[in-house]
Order: sequence, then structure tokens, then C-alpha cells
Amino acid sequence: MAQLSLQHLDKIYDNKVQAVYDFNMEVKDGELIVLVGPSGCGKSTTLRMIAGLEDITNGKLLLDGKDITAAPPKDRDMAMVFQNYALYGHMTVYENMAFSLTLRKEDPNVIHKKVLAAAEILDLTSQLNKKPSQLSGGQRQRVAMGRSIVRSPKLFLFDEPLSNLDAKLRSSTRREILLLHKRLGATMLYVTHDQTEALTLADRIVCMSMGHVQQIGTPLELYDTPANLFVASFIGLPPMNFFQVLVSGDHLISPYFTVTMSPEQKQLLAEYQGKHVTMGVRPENIQEGGDIPVNVSDNENLGMNTLVHGHFKTGEAESRVTCKFKGWCDYKKGDVVQVSFQKMHFFDQTTGNRIVKS
Ligand code: ADP
Repeated sequence: MAQLSLQHLDKIYDNKVQAVYDFNMEVKDGELIVLVGPSGCGKSTTLRMIAGLEDITNGKLLLDGKDITAAPPKDRDMAMVFQNYALYGHMTVYENMAFSLTLRKEDPNVIHKKVLAAAEILDLTSQLNKKPSQLSGGQRQRVAMGRSIVRSPKLFLFDEPLSNLDAKLRSSTRREILLLHKRLGATMLYVTHDQTEALTLADRIVCMSMGHVQQIGTPLELYDTPANLFVASFIGLPPMNFFQVLVSGDHLISPYFTVTMSPEQKQLLAEYQGKHVTMGVRPENIQEGGDIPVNVSDNENLGMNTLVHGHFKTGEAESRVTCKFKGWCDYKKGDVVQVSFQKMHFFDQTTGNRIVKS
């Protein structure tokens, strides 16, 4: 069991930099939570406050109902896996994994059982007698995780554990972490700046910007109904396209296109008649066929899909747009492709917040 309650957490460093503002969340037992956001948004600080490596300036932290706000790291029953997983080079994989238990003077028989069980989970049984230098990057990362698993902590904390690995290894190790999460049923908090990792791993994502939580939700919630412009532009690759449009009668009017609203859209934007809103369209929600001309500048074949980068144009004014079409396309620079929008998101221009039904 490991439920974590983060209540109004603030972090102000000694140099007066406020890294985290009023962080609130209830992490359920067995959940895999991913904290995501650009560099410097306060993800690691949050994780380090949970681990007890940074003092909590304001707020409360409860683990299974017990107040651990001021508890030293060793009393928190958590294990942290870092990006720089320093393994002991002179020790075997077995010894590396057994190290913390040996320090704690656990019964050697218990240690042996725990190391073998962790090795089994991590598919390292045949590597136990090797030294870290004889392992691949991915295997070393697994040994680092093994060191945590043997301690059977209540909570696993991962700080960008995959960022030192190459793209292919990142994706396979990501799947291993998912598998590990399923096998152990453990509560995990995972920090990354990579939105793909967040979408593929998380039960719930916490998206942060400049120390503030922007949205907490399932990957689908953040993808389908981003709470504001920040989340809309951060989650999804290639990112969402944004256009300023005027809400006028039945229409959304931009310098480049006019779109007729559905009755639902008209109702949603009723309060915005005569005003501008920001319209967001994901690249995959732009379809070939329609009456909006895109001037192609670049055609990127990805195999299953094609990314077509281009712009809308009226007179001197231009607006860039990226479309993701199904299958293989062969557009050339200068081609004009007619498109339509399938799904649109709308944001208030003053607050940047998603416009929702009132
Ligand atoms: P992230 O993990 O999202 O990249 P961090 O939590 O590391 O972000 O940092 C958040 C903010 O806090 C940044 O502005 C960073 O410069 C600042 N910061 C981080 N660590 C310290 C520190 N020890 N002292 C002062 N400021 C810090």
C-alpha cells in the first residue's frame, strides 16, 4: 500500500527562486504518475521534496496517512532511480543489487532471495556475475532499478531515468518500466520532459509549467481536452496548430479560411460572438479534401503517415500549418493541397484556458 497526498506544496530555494507553487495531488495506491513539462518547470524539485532531498517550504506530505513532511529520506521508505545511475564498477550485478541490504545487515538468505527475485523480474538472472562494464546501457539501467526493487520500497521515484539512452533503447526500457509497474503493482512517480514518455507510461499525467501544475489527468484527457494553451501545445507531437479566429454568426473567420460551425460549436462559443478566440487543430485532425488551401513547403514521409508542413496565405499574411495525413504522400514544395478540419479546440485569448460548456 502506498498512497501519497501532496497538499499545497511550495518550494522556495534559498536564493528566493520559487520552483513550485501550491502543488496538490492525491496519488492512489499502485498508480504510475508522470510529471512532465519543459526544463526548469519544477518537476525534479517536486520529486526531490517527496524523496526528502529538498526541504518543503510550505505544505504537507502524507504517505499512507502519515505526515512525512519533515522526515529524513531514510525514513520515507522510497527508492529513487536517477538518470545517472552510478553503479559500483568493481562489484558484480549481484553485489550491486545486494548492496543496500548488505549495508542494512539483512540476513544473507533474505538478501539472496530478494536479489534473485528482482533479477528474475528484470530479466537479469544470467547477468548476475557480470560487472557493469560488461552490460549494455539498458541492462545497467535495469540493475539500477534492481537495487531499488530489492528494498521493496513503498514508492518508486524515477528522475528522467531514460534520458541517457539512445532512442531505440529508450523505447524498449520504457516498455520494461511499464511491465515492471504491472508486475510489482507499486506506486511510482516518474519525471520526464518527454511528452511521449508521459503519454505512453502514465496512469495519470501532471503537466507543469513555471512551477505551476497546469493539468492533472489521464493521457487521453490531456490529449483530447487540454485545459489550456500550454498543455495543448506541450502534449502531442508534432504540436497542435493554433489560429486566431473571429466568431461571427455561424462562422469562424480567419484571414486564411472560413469554417462553418456545428450547432455544438456555436453553442460552446455563444459568449464569444463578435470576439476572437484561439482555435487549435492537431495535425492529424487536418484531412485531405476540403476547401482550405495549404501551400506545401515540405513533405516528410514517416511510413504509416506523412507530415506535410506548409502555410495558409492571403496577400502578404501567412500562417504556418503542419498536417499529418494517413499513408504515403508525395507533395512537392509549391503544391497546393485542399484540406478540412475534423476536430477543433478553442481557447480564451485572455486567459489561455480551454473554452468549455457553461
Ligand atoms: P525541472 O526538473 O522541471 O527541469 P527543477 O525542479 O530542476 O526543474 O528546477 C525548477 C526551478 O528551480 C528552476 O528555475 C531551477 O533553476 C531552480 N532550482 C533548481 N534547483 C535549485 C537550487 N538548488 N537552488 C536554486 N534554484 C534551483
